[in-house]
Amino acid sequence: MDGIGRGAKKLSYDVLVIGGGHAGCEAARAAARMGAKTLLVTSFLARVGQMSCNPAIGGIAKGTVAREVDALGGIMGRAADQTTLHFRMLNRSKGPAVWAPRAQCDRGLYSRAVRTLLELEAGLDLYQGSVVALHTDRGRAAGVECQDGTVFRARCTILTAGTFLRGQILMGSSVKIGAGRAGDAPSVPLAEQLLDLGLESGRFKTGTPPRIDGRTVDFSRFERQDGELNGLRFSHWELAEILPQRPCWITQAGPAVKEVVADNLAESAMYSGASSAQGPRYCPSIEDKVLKFPDAESHRVFLEPEGLETAELYVNGLSTSLPADVQRRFLARIPGLEATRMTQPGYAIEYDFFTPTQLTSTLELKPLPGLYLAGQINGTTGYEEAAGQGIVAGINAALAVSEREPWVPARDEAYLGVLIDDLVTRGVDEPYRLFTSRAEFRLILRQDNCLQRLGPTATRLGLLTDAEKRILDSHLEALDRGRDWLGQARALPARVNSYLVSIGSAELRETQPAQRLLKRPGVQLGVLGELLEPTIESALGADAVTVLEMETKYDGYISREKERAGQLRERESLPLPSDLPYRGLVSLSTEARQKLDQIRPSTLGQASRIPGISPADLLALLVEVRKFRAQGKAAASPSAARS
Ligand code: FAD
Repeated sequence: MDGIGRGAKKLSYDVLVIGGGHAGCEAARAAARMGAKTLLVTSFLARVGQMSCNPAIGGIAKGTVAREVDALGGIMGRAADQTTLHFRMLNRSKGPAVWAPRAQCDRGLYSRAVRTLLELEAGLDLYQGSVVALHTDRGRAAGVECQDGTVFRARCTILTAGTFLRGQILMGSSVKIGAGRAGDAPSVPLAEQLLDLGLESGRFKTGTPPRIDGRTVDFSRFERQDGELNGLRFSHWELAEILPQRPCWITQAGPAVKEVVADNLAESAMYSGASSAQGPRYCPSIEDKVLKFPDAESHRVFLEPEGLETAELYVNGLSTSLPADVQRRFLARIPGLEATRMTQPGYAIEYDFFTPTQLTSTLELKPLPGLYLAGQINGTTGYEEAAGQGIVAGINAALAVSEREPWVPARDEAYLGVLIDDLVTRGVDEPYRLFTSRAEFRLILRQDNCLQRLGPTATRLGLLTDAEKRILDSHLEALDRGRDWLGQARALPARVNSYLVSIGSAELRETQPAQRLLKRPGVQLGVLGELLEPTIESALGADAVTVLEMETKYDGYISREKERAGQLRERESLPLPSDLPYRGLVSLSTEARQKLDQIRPSTLGQASRIPGISPADLLALLVEVRKFRAQGKAAASPSAARS
């Protein structure tokens, strides 16, 4: 729709965010923190920060993203800490590169904590409204119109509509309900307008398991799993008060469950032909598991708490789109759930997403400048992936309105960099989620060093309060001090041997540099530090101790990763002219010409990651860029992020 509607009341903002999910909340708060006059418009204010599926934050790779978002001043880590009911550091038995914090949270309290954190931001307004149209002005996004007729103008708009765009809940072969998620209306006019713009789009689907009434569970048939809080947290900034902790419960769905599922596959929305949308391969439904792993005897099921003041439990592992009565039947075949009452059936949901190769690395839509897309709308799945995109979009929208250079995290700087780069250069053919295997530099991108990696950037961008800047400075100072101390500290046999014996490590015969001893498996700096000569003058803080321990234990590997990252950056940084006539570059393959023309990567590094671009194409591209430059045709060299 061109031009702002006449007659309607016009309210103006620098940055307007549509959607109060994980992407929208981070985007709005980041923009407001950076000084942009910001408005968050969302269909239902009481549901900001709502966790549509499992009330859990973190997990493999995702836990690091939550901490990266926190290091940038974000919401997710603080809200998770305030509402954690069960915390675990996953993968502890493996290398530190894949350690992963995960918190089961109280669903209702999490959403309230998010709202409170939003309301603490002075420059951020909230409005309950359903956006029905985007307004444009001379080819740029210029504002929005809500169902109630209110029109807001904005210099930048960030759309984070999640699973709501023409969303449809599917249960069984015949139940189809228009919805953004259970209990929420879908967003149809907005989706139709985006489709009318001619944007490339697709349909994805995801699913959720049933919930049950914990009062009807025989827990004696389950294995109890307690959390391990131990002072571990997501947030670098606040020490939230810990809520009473709750256990999770583990069991197996065995042959009896598989039989019910197999007998009713034709009734599943996924397998009856009711949906042809692509689902997440790595988050399979129980129907997928039964079909794809016919030889598996059983599948793990976790009962996880939904909240402190409710007995309701989330049945993790049994995501399904079978009819409700079939769900009741298979639940009753799980030992301990024979008499359980289902409180909510599982369901699948399908929705529109927009191909993320249409975005720049700042998440701005190339065909409609001024409009940024972030979160599930870009074909991702997961709260953390959404939050990560949200904060990057919010930061860049605020930078754009103040005419500052964009900020795009690099692949060796943050998982956020991996996420954004994968999306805008590779696109998605199934709901995208982060894994540690997607990152080339896993030892650099650890969950313990997010503050060190991103804190200085957060300060530079204006994302931190004065109190937070002080916390960052003292952390960085502790790291410097700790490195100096460790570089000269020695381990004397008389002081360390009883500790070494206690952990089953060989005794020292002679004095050894502390750094060498710390490389031994099982030796922890938190304990060893007290025994070294000299001892440290003042405490470093637990976060700094963890970073120093990791840096020392894995310094050889980390140095090699840093070297590779340096080489990659050199290639990365070679800018590609934004007006390069790719279609005419006959020395490249036809596929490469088409893809490069469509995606228009900003650097050679981005071009190299586009599927279908071969090393030969890259070499030819290098030659063509030189020729193009020599002919003086290159436009003013584009910033790596803004093509
Ligand atoms: P959402 O959290 O969906 O938020 C979208 C926001 O936009 C909402 O606040 C909505 O009210 C608002 N909105 C939409 N349209 C408009 C409009 N026109 N005007 C104003 N406001 C609007 N993730 C996993 O990691 N694992 C899972 O197992 C998993 N299962 C899922 C199961 C289901 C049924 C659903 C629905 C989602 C599931 N997800 C899962 C995905 C996860 O919920 C999303 O990835 C995440 O919530 C995306 O965040 P978002 O901010 O992009 O969108």
